[in-house]
Amino acid sequence: MAKFLLFIVVLAVIYALVRASKRRSKPPPAARAPEAMTRCAHCGVHFPSAESVRDAERDYCCEDHRRLGVRS
Ligand SMILES: [Zn+2]
Repeated sequence: MAKFLLFIVVLAVIYALVRASKRRSKPPPAARAPEAMTRCAHCGVHFPSAESVRDAERDYCCEDHRRLGVRS
């Protein structure tokens, strides 16, 4: 009888450990912060600010558009 009770306790501990590890491995929702976006002063396309080619005061999507400047 004592062996049977020990078996039940061991199963309960294993079940609790598996549940705890599943809960811990779940990734948190929205872990990444939203990325800042900017607009190309030449063609008007929106793209991540980190990829911009900067002029004195304006952002461009590529080196060619920076050379061409602001399109009116
Ligand atoms: Zn552009």
